[in-house]
Amino acid sequence: MRTDVLVIGAGPAGAAAARALARAGVAVRMVERGAIGRPRLCGEFVSPEAGVDLAALGLAIGDAGGVAIGAAGVTAGGASTETMLAPPGHAVGRDVLDAWMAKAAVESGATLHAATSVAALQGDAADGFRAELEGDVRGTLQARLVIGAFGRRAPGWLGIAPVSPRRAAIALKAHLRVGPEALPSRVALHAFPGGYIGSVPIAADRINLCLVAERRAAGALAPGGARAALAAFVAHVPELGALWERAELAPASVCAASGLRFGHVHPTHGDILLAGDAAGQPHPASGDGIAMALRSGRLAAACACAVLERRLAPDRLARFYTQAWRREFAARLRWARLVHAAIVRPRFLGPALVGLAREPHVVQALLARTRGAPHDVASPLALHPREFR
Ligand SMILES: Cc1cc2nc3c(=O)[nH]c(=O)nc-3n(C[C@H](O)[C@H](O)[C@H](O)COP(=O)(O)OP(=O)(O)OC[C@H]3O[C@@H](n4cnc5c(N)ncnc54)[C@H](O)[C@@H]3O)c2cc1C
Repeated sequence: MRTDVLVIGAGPAGAAAARALARAGVAVRMVERGAIGRPRLCGEFVSPEAGVDLAALGLAIGDAGGVAIGAAGVTAGGASTETMLAPPGHAVGRDVLDAWMAKAAVESGATLHAATSVAALQGDAADGFRAELEGDVRGTLQARLVIGAFGRRAPGWLGIAPVSPRRAAIALKAHLRVGPEALPSRVALHAFPGGYIGSVPIAADRINLCLVAERRAAGALAPGGARAALAAFVAHVPELGALWERAELAPASVCAASGLRFGHVHPTHGDILLAGDAAGQPHPASGDGIAMALRSGRLAAACACAVLERRLAPDRLARFYTQAWRREFAARLRWARLVHAAIVRPRFLGPALVGLAREPHVVQALLARTRGAPHDVASPLALHPREFR
């Protein structure tokens, strides 16, 4: 098997890269180890900034289904603040979003191998890569370039050390079935010491509750499955009490993970361009991971195109992509870390929220720091020609 570009992973980053490449006339194969459209651990809020990159891919988030979200709020220790989102964000189940994005990539001409994983990979941008595929599709795949969009868990062949449990966070997501009268109209983060619970409506009768807790707070984890674990944390959040009493948990929606590390950055591995969480996982409190995944997928695709079209020498690819990636994402990862640090300390955040409620422009400015500028990354070479001398 041969292709111009191998994309590893069919999450938002991989699907964005594959669609961008296919639309540019490049032969691209996207390999996904799991099933397409399965439940994923995620707050399922798609920030307004994602709209720029989806539009550049010829897509509109409204076509994926879900719910438009016009406001975002934070609560901590009885205090709260809210800001309007204009344009609105969107909330959509990741099972739906990922399937929609993968279909869009395939419709543009990308080949998708689901239930297939890349078990080994070697090579470089000058001489090409050889990947060993396992699963539904087996064998050797030769690719001129590779984009690694495999999410937060690096494959073993990359040799990246696992996270120390002391520094790692845990997360849990579940959908609650509720009556329309209990459906909130905004996305909200509810802080408790050491963590927070995000809530957002993702359908006319469904809310996503997504918990993120630092290891020190996870002592509250009760035995007895997802419902008991969530209940232990919801007990710290009075704003969710009434909703929790009336709601019914949808067991098939539950996803959990431990050993999470946010903010870690490595945009390349050798000549493999890493996109989405594989390159750097933003703290979920920023609600911008999906938008970052889409943009970095497009950025990686644009850089790969530049090599294939001989506008960029293969031996400069990794350095160029790293610089472009850092310019685009490094600051927002730092701001997302600060937002996270504030939210997991509600004792300090609560009084600050009282002040911020009177200064909505400050909230907007803070939020904007965790987000990308609304420029387009389709032509990183045109944006930064100095590096090509
Ligand atoms: C608790 C939590 C809540 C979050 N909430 C939000 C939110 O509300 N809004 C938001 O914007 N972001 C949120 N995020 C972040 C967001 O989920 C991620 O940033 C986003 O999913 C990254 O997309 P991706 O394509 O990089 O990775 P993923 O979506 O993880 O996709 C990677 C894919 O690669 C596949 N794969 C892995 N290894 C291989 C291999 N060797 N071979 C083949 N395939 C492979 C995986 O199966 C997977 O499908 C949250 C994150 C967490 C942890």
